[in-house]
Amino acid sequence: MSTGILGAGLTGLTLGNLIADCEILEKSSECGGLCQSLEEEGFTFDWGGSHIIFSKDTAVLDFMLEKLGDNVVKCRRNTKILYKGNYVKYPFENGLSDLPLLDNFECLKGFIEALICNNICNNSPGNFNDWLHTTFGDGIAEKYLVPYNEKIWNYDLSKMGTWWVEGRVPKPPVDDIIKSSLGIETEGYTHQLYFYYPKEGGINALIKCLERESKDKLIKKFDVNSIKRDKDGWIVSNGREKRRYDNIIATHPIFDLIHSLDDVPAEVYNALHELKYNSLITVMLGLSVAQSNDYSWLYIPDRDCLAHRVAFPSNYSKFVAPEGKSAVVAEITYNSSDSVDMLSNDEILSRTIEELHKREIINRDTVCFSKAKRTKYAYVIYDLDYEKNMGMIKRFLNERGIHLVGRFAEFKYLNMDACVRNALDFVKVMRT
Ligand SMILES: Cc1cc2nc3c(=O)[nH]c(=O)nc-3n(C[C@H](O)[C@H](O)[C@H](O)COP(=O)(O)OP(=O)(O)OC[C@H]3O[C@@H](n4cnc5c(N)ncnc54)[C@H](O)[C@@H]3O)c2cc1C
Repeated sequence: MSTGILGAGLTGLTLGNLIADCEILEKSSECGGLCQSLEEEGFTFDWGGSHIIFSKDTAVLDFMLEKLGDNVVKCRRNTKILYKGNYVKYPFENGLSDLPLLDNFECLKGFIEALICNNICNNSPGNFNDWLHTTFGDGIAEKYLVPYNEKIWNYDLSKMGTWWVEGRVPKPPVDDIIKSSLGIETEGYTHQLYFYYPKEGGINALIKCLERESKDKLIKKFDVNSIKRDKDGWIVSNGREKRRYDNIIATHPIFDLIHSLDDVPAEVYNALHELKYNSLITVMLGLSVAQSNDYSWLYIPDRDCLAHRVAFPSNYSKFVAPEGKSAVVAEITYNSSDSVDMLSNDEILSRTIEELHKREIINRDTVCFSKAKRTKYAYVIYDLDYEKNMGMIKRFLNERGIHLVGRFAEFKYLNMDACVRNALDFVKVMRT
């Protein structure tokens, strides 16, 4: 049975690896989607945003590491939150003693009050904003979690659901919060405390390994814009060329998929247009000096700084910059037509360089390379109507017999490990 896989990001290439009789159709001249890397002037940057490899799923982690072979380094996370000029250990709730004393007190007090309140009233928060306050208390929520999440999501947190947060934002153990406030060392998000990164080639090195294994199945520069069905199966076209398959698996964005189908009911279109996501500008900076800190990445909740996160990939692997130089990646989320979108890439670059210089994260005089890249589909936003809208779209695609695997095909906040896991599981079911 022949299978057409639409999209050659991490998900499409993983599926291509596992399915013998298939073709992978990729719109771009390069594979990788969000896992692409830019190699220029001796620097390597992950241009869909800074990536690291980690997972609780050991089979998936092994799968990715096995592909990379020797081309991998293991790092210990050293991540901070820049709060009122203080470098606070990440996660914030594990770094309370790095805060000014009054802030530390307010965080601990808020957490204890939330605990007492939860014991008495059995709160079940109806939105993400309330969940943050109820789970962490007002201090931690208002000083860090709310401003940071408002920046990264670029969306009203009180209009976001809560069903997805349990796995993504772990509830802090009481012991950890008290210890952290007193200055006793604790670690949070321990599944990510150690992470991996390709020694050379950025995150795209993983894509290159998968691509090599599937090179005979790959058709690049094939922008799927029409998908039809007849009695013999599926006909997939880019407007010039047609390919025939018994089965199709979409790994490319659900928006492109639905727009390439005929006879889509109006209510499905309406649900599609109600889905929320945000876009990303990746600011890639090369510095003419070695990295001046040993941080993995920094979170910046300040509203007067465009970037919400700044990563230091030269601290993962020295091979991402020429000797004596270093690479920095700043991430900015935005939405079509908002105030950030209205800025040109040059304006974004100069503002970001100034804002990082002002915070002494970089010295602007050492910037010897700068580039900004926009990615339309970066983060899925779980708004309050997400389940209703996705339910309708999935029912329609199920009836048509179209399978979805991957971050913007399933329209879920999936990391690389979840994409690989979903591909492995999909193929297992397909074989039974
Ligand atoms: C800022 C940021 C940081 C991240 N950091 C991490 C991290 O540190 N660790 C981690 O595990 N995960 C991270 N992720 C998540 C990770 O990038 C994704 O889970 C993964 O790359 C998704 O792969 P995918 O193949 O499902 O989708 P995509 O990468 O979106 O691939 C889809 C592919 O489909 C192609 N396509 C689109 N339209 C068409 C069409 N019409 N016809 C044919 N092809 C088409 C695209 O060109 C693309 O190649 C991060 C994501 C972001 C946005």
